[in-house]
Amino acid sequence: MICFNVGPSKVYPQIQGFLQDAYSQNVLSMPHRSQDFMDMVKKTIFLTKQKLNIPPQYTVLFASSATECWEILAQSLVTKKSYHITSGAFGEKWYDYTHAIHRTVEKHSFEINENMNITKVQTFFTFAERRTGKAELEEKALICFTHNETSNGTQIPMSTIEEVHEMFPKQLIAVDATSSMAGVNFSWKSADIWYASVQKCFGMPAGLSIMVLSPRAVARASEIGEKKHYNSLLKMCENIEKYQTTHTPNVLGIYLLMRTLEIMPSIKETDEITKKRAKIWYQYFEKHHLFKPLVDLEAVRSDTVIALKAPKEVILTLKERAKKAGFLLGSGYDRWKENTFRIANFPSITDQEIGKLKEFLHKYEG
Ligand SMILES: *Cc1c(COP(=O)(O)O)cnc(C)c1O
Repeated sequence: MICFNVGPSKVYPQIQGFLQDAYSQNVLSMPHRSQDFMDMVKKTIFLTKQKLNIPPQYTVLFASSATECWEILAQSLVTKKSYHITSGAFGEKWYDYTHAIHRTVEKHSFEINENMNITKVQTFFTFAERRTGKAELEEKALICFTHNETSNGTQIPMSTIEEVHEMFPKQLIAVDATSSMAGVNFSWKSADIWYASVQKCFGMPAGLSIMVLSPRAVARASEIGEKKHYNSLLKMCENIEKYQTTHTPNVLGIYLLMRTLEIMPSIKETDEITKKRAKIWYQYFEKHHLFKPLVDLEAVRSDTVIALKAPKEVILTLKERAKKAGFLLGSGYDRWKENTFRIANFPSITDQEIGKLKEFLHKYEG
């Protein structure tokens, strides 16, 4: 079965050997306060920064999922205000989790074919300002973007995040990059919090997430001083300085991440391949007799998650028939469940596998 699901997604084939090594090298019972563990964490953080091109002064932390990251940020970095800019289900869920803790946070939605540029973001904030009667955005606010909206295959242009950072230098910017980190290159310095879980572009099994923090974000966590939870961000930061964690973490996951990073090319190389493949996929589907890209506007089309639309009755049987032919496709999600499907454009997928899927789709009659 070739997995084109958008998460959990195809794991690198080398994972099989890494799992065997983990067993034979006693990683599975490694004490999490041992020197061996701390050395492993240190190396994993070094490799994460090196391979993904993360600025050296940024902090890398581990949690168990992107969902946990939503909650960590809501608990430890939002005091009153966060502005959630979203076009789909994952951005909305982030807002919902934050709103459950802080009633004053705001959601600003945009449509899937709307250009998500700085002008648009400004109109959101103008609204927010007017309502609070303040001339400026709350200084302690968190501006929240879902870089790659996995539910519908839209992507916020990196240039928009860069421009928002320039225009609102006092506010912290947080980015859910769950289905794009390790797939495309980021302007890390344009935001303060980035996070992802590894079952998407990292080509790994689920159960581990990575959070990347700017020095400003670490300082803010320290200033707020929230320590009421086992996963309080401040406690996590204090622990990771010693290459430790607040609790017994997913040691196997960290080990697999270390081994996977070792075989990964640099993100600049991956970025080029991902974008080239995405372009080819979109060109292919623009001409397809049955399946069309869900997102028309090129500027907001995702590079890593390709969402395709088709009539309901076609979608109904597609996944089953694809499975019989040896392909696992991603279902539609949330309000796009019935008329779309999704395919992952993740680095672990090979050109040969893409070729096979194209052959299947090419001949496909509804
Ligand atoms: C998959 C996904 C999540 C949830 O990830 P978990 O690891 O299951 O918590 C959150 N945000 C986005 C954008 C995603 O694609």
